[in-house]
Amino acid sequence: MSIPVITDLQSLRKLRNEISLKNQTVGFVPTMGYLHQGHMSLIKESILENDLTFISIFVNPSQFSPNEDLDTYPRDLDHDLNVIKNFLINENLNNNLDKIKIFKPSVNEMYPSGFTLDISKQKGTFIEVLGVSEQLEGKTRPTFFRGVATIVTKLFNAVKPTNAYFGQKDIQQTIVIKNLVKDLLIDINIKIVPIIRNSNGLALSSRNSYLSNEILNQVTCIFQSLKLANNNYLNGNLNINNLTNLIKDKIIQTNQNFKIDYISFNNPNNLDYINDKIDKKIGAILSLAVYVPNSTNLNESKSTRLIDNWILEPYN
Ligand code: AMP
Repeated sequence: MSIPVITDLQSLRKLRNEISLKNQTVGFVPTMGYLHQGHMSLIKESILENDLTFISIFVNPSQFSPNEDLDTYPRDLDHDLNVIKNFLINENLNNNLDKIKIFKPSVNEMYPSGFTLDISKQKGTFIEVLGVSEQLEGKTRPTFFRGVATIVTKLFNAVKPTNAYFGQKDIQQTIVIKNLVKDLLIDINIKIVPIIRNSNGLALSSRNSYLSNEILNQVTCIFQSLKLANNNYLNGNLNINNLTNLIKDKIIQTNQNFKIDYISFNNPNNLDYINDKIDKKIGAILSLAVYVPNSTNLNESKSTRLIDNWILEPYN
């Protein structure tokens, strides 16, 4: 049995209406494809909690700035279908194949007013979630969350899910989406799923496919630095400068060509920056972004931006 891939809105809406008539619950997992086990943990959760699961595969152009990797972002539908099928077999969930539908629309379908990367020339409707989009990722990528909020709203309107699943890997995105549904009165439950890491602790990401094996080994220092900071925090070290230096040293000692974009401690409720000391009764979101060269080859000119985070849980 094969998984149906719907590519146009009309077919999606027809199917969605049939589902409504049957009163079935719909889970939704938005992705940019090139699926890995991180995506699959969201999909698994959706399969277990809903009658049907829609997975969207769409490399959303509006969340990329002109100098980013929109053109080279990995796209491979056969790979994605195989990852899903193998996962279901391995998890003994193979009898759920008929509960999965893939929505893989074109850019024209999702941007009926047309789309251009040049933001000053864009036409149509865009969504901004103010207050939680400007810091952290939004500082380095100023139009990123405008793109994310816009495509997620469009996909919500198309799929009309009961529950939608997002990964803690993109922790700021989860806060943006929760605010989006609150502010726009959207009746969808937002579910957050923990970060899936490989056996060395590296957070799984489609962009890891850009990296050579040697760099893949080295970037596990990111996870180790977060763990180190968390242990220090739990042992009473609440000083931001101190914790930041521990992380920096660990990363730079591994490879001095790793360039830290930011290391940040933010209030878990509103993402306000913590500048001096963590209040242990509140805890913090520790997040970072690091540019790493794609290989150790001296002539390597391409780099990849990796993000990761750790929730520093409150304690007494
Ligand atoms: P992407 O295809 O990168 O846009 O990711 C689609 C969804 O999968 C987002 O909600 C991500 O946060 C989530 N995701 C990506 N990587 C992981 C991971 N390693 N663990 C858990 N969720 C992830």
